[in-house]
Amino acid sequence: MQPIRKIIHIDMDAFYASVEQRDRPELKGKPVIVGGDPQSRGVVAACSYEARKFGIHSAMASSTAYRLCPDAVFIRSRFDVYRAVSSQIREIFCEYTDLVEPLSLDEAFLDVTENYKGMPSATLIAREIKRKVYDRTGGLTSSAGVSFNKFLAKVASDINKPDGITVITPEMADEFMNKLPIRKFFGVGKVTEEKMFSSGIKTGADLKKFKKEKLIQLFGKSGSYFYDIAHGLDDRPVEPNRIRKSIGKETTFSEDINDTDQMIEVLEDIAAKLENSLIKKDAKGRTITLKMKYFDFQSITRSITIDEPADSASVIMKYVRPLLSKTEAGEKKVRLLGISISNFDDQETNSVKVCKYRQLPLPFKFPNAKDTRNDFKLW
Ligand SMILES: [Mg+2]
Repeated sequence: MQPIRKIIHIDMDAFYASVEQRDRPELKGKPVIVGGDPQSRGVVAACSYEARKFGIHSAMASSTAYRLCPDAVFIRSRFDVYRAVSSQIREIFCEYTDLVEPLSLDEAFLDVTENYKGMPSATLIAREIKRKVYDRTGGLTSSAGVSFNKFLAKVASDINKPDGITVITPEMADEFMNKLPIRKFFGVGKVTEEKMFSSGIKTGADLKKFKKEKLIQLFGKSGSYFYDIAHGLDDRPVEPNRIRKSIGKETTFSEDINDTDQMIEVLEDIAAKLENSLIKKDAKGRTITLKMKYFDFQSITRSITIDEPADSASVIMKYVRPLLSKTEAGEKKVRLLGISISNFDDQETNSVKVCKYRQLPLPFKFPNAKDTRNDFKLW
């Protein structure tokens, strides 16, 4: 039998916005929004906790954010700076393990089952990492989730944000999953959530009442994923060299649409979100794929491979418009639209910056026992 793994998910708190507040102290304590101009179709790439109080969140249209908080300070992204901080934090991760899988500039999974320092407690590793991140980046905070699989580690890091650590041990997992609202399951958007509600599924416990076959019948391929996750089954490894195949965004409508102008608008919103995601993942691809599902659930895709990197909403839309005209849009009602980018320039985007700075292991100092600010479980 495999030993129980120890996985940490580290996620920087309000990353781009915190970097801006660090570099411009006059912005501390203010609602700060990093991303697209409110006058444009751009989206919020990140926002400070002060801005979140107004209901603003990342991937929201900047114009909506402006409506919610006209006094917010809107700032253009400075990705060169965020990238530099990102490599600083990855360097810290690599002091503990080679098994680092970055998900974007500001978050990563670490498998610390075995680690350079031979530390038996993943919680203490997480706490050391958080402290080093704070010290070396000039005061940026992060949150950590510690558990035995990727799903739980990621959900956990979100629980005590900002500057928190949450541990879900194998003994705690069952109860935790039972209470977990289904929108916390990765891949559950509004439409899936509504569908789950109508089947009486609100939490992990509700999901567990269903047989796998039934969930597949209700939710297609995702049904099998929901079943496994609800039962604590997630053996996906932490993959330092994972090759990213594609990055996509899609929208399912609660009512099918027929108007192509409306479709273009939806696609523009999707392209803006996709641009945000591509930058966050530091990925540039050359194949653009339009995905469409008609009212009768028939799915089609239309793709084009281009010479320039598809890394902005405007480039993406330039090619998506002609792709749309190669579909039956306007003749057949549509229930889902999506765009994805693949064929990435640097297939090793995800790995090259990881663990090339590895330092010699340092002797481990037991942390100050008086530090009781985080009342977490040592595991
Ligand atoms: Mg983050």
